[in-house]
Amino acid sequence: MIRYLRLLFIVMFIFVLFPISANAKTLGQLKQEYDALEKKYSSTGSSIKATESEIASAKARIESIYTELDQAQKEIQSITNEISKLNESIFEKDKQTKELMKFFQVSQGESTYLEYIFSADSITDFIYRITITEQLSKYNDKLIDEMNSMIEKNNKNIENLHVKEESLKKLQEELGNKLVVLSSERESLYDEYSSLEEDIKNSKTIIDYYIKAGCTENQDISSCAKEQLPPGTKFWRPVTAGCITSNFGLRVDPFQGVYRTHSGMDIACRSLSGGKIYSISDGQVVTINNVDRGGYGKYIIIHHRVNGQNYSSLYGHLEAIYVSKGDIVNKDTVIGYMGSTGRSTGPHLHLNVCHGLNSCMSTSVLTNPRNYINFPFYDGIHYSYFYDRTSYYK
Ligand SMILES: [Zn+2]
Repeated sequence: MIRYLRLLFIVMFIFVLFPISANAKTLGQLKQEYDALEKKYSSTGSSIKATESEIASAKARIESIYTELDQAQKEIQSITNEISKLNESIFEKDKQTKELMKFFQVSQGESTYLEYIFSADSITDFIYRITITEQLSKYNDKLIDEMNSMIEKNNKNIENLHVKEESLKKLQEELGNKLVVLSSERESLYDEYSSLEEDIKNSKTIIDYYIKAGCTENQDISSCAKEQLPPGTKFWRPVTAGCITSNFGLRVDPFQGVYRTHSGMDIACRSLSGGKIYSISDGQVVTINNVDRGGYGKYIIIHHRVNGQNYSSLYGHLEAIYVSKGDIVNKDTVIGYMGSTGRSTGPHLHLNVCHGLNSCMSTSVLTNPRNYINFPFYDGIHYSYFYDRTSYYK
């Protein structure tokens, strides 16, 4: 009995030391995620290189086809010249032979070919005369036949060259299409590359943050940093007044005009609030990006622990940031000023809300901000307005 009690005591002791929570994450896991990001980053880099070299070779092939086409054109031209020369020769030969026969007849004192033959003074002379005229015209016919067959051969060559030309042009067109596909692949790879770069940077800041907070490798980060995360109770609207210009979820992308998932909510009408942006709840600033280079522009990431659950929020396209990494904030802390930095068409706040403590960008953690913050209904067409941070909209 004592033994069982001891065992039970040990189990309870372990449980107290290492509390197990549903979305527990350790510093070690964060580091593993970081390593995975690094790996993906480097493999994306290799894919970019491979795509670049495919593009280069497709371009080079297209270029070489131009040379081949030029060559074929030149050949066609020279064969055409040859044909016309042959035609001239045929005409020339025919004429020469006729002239020769005529000369032969004239020199013999006869005016026509038949007269020449029939005026033979002996059977030998007759045969000779027939033979010589026959040979002459046969030779002429043979020569012309030969030239005609050369023309035929040349025409065949031209035909083949035209076929070759067609297939080269087709290949060139195919390569052109391939180039379009490759270029768009390259573009999306570069997009992925820079977003991975961003993720790596954020992941690094978050790891550093938890290391500083004193977390050890196998400790649940939400519990080891607990003392630094003030206990919040709920979420508030991030501006004192404004309008909703875009919901979370599928929408027509304002840049590409195609359906894409919108990772958060857009809140505009800066003049209503004066542009001040508040943290949606108590928490701690874990990431500051003060560099405007596409995407979310200047942004802030805050970690929250509300009612025992972990959340992250991201505030994008900011014009100015008023907090620093590590700052403890509450719902009344002005964290920044609404702007239009990054991929934005006008001053607005882009707000992401995520489950767990993370950089609040990837689909797996993103959630509809409306799940936690009350906002008036927005039909996707007519901006919907609100004038404080608390009024409840059904
Ligand atoms: Zn947005």
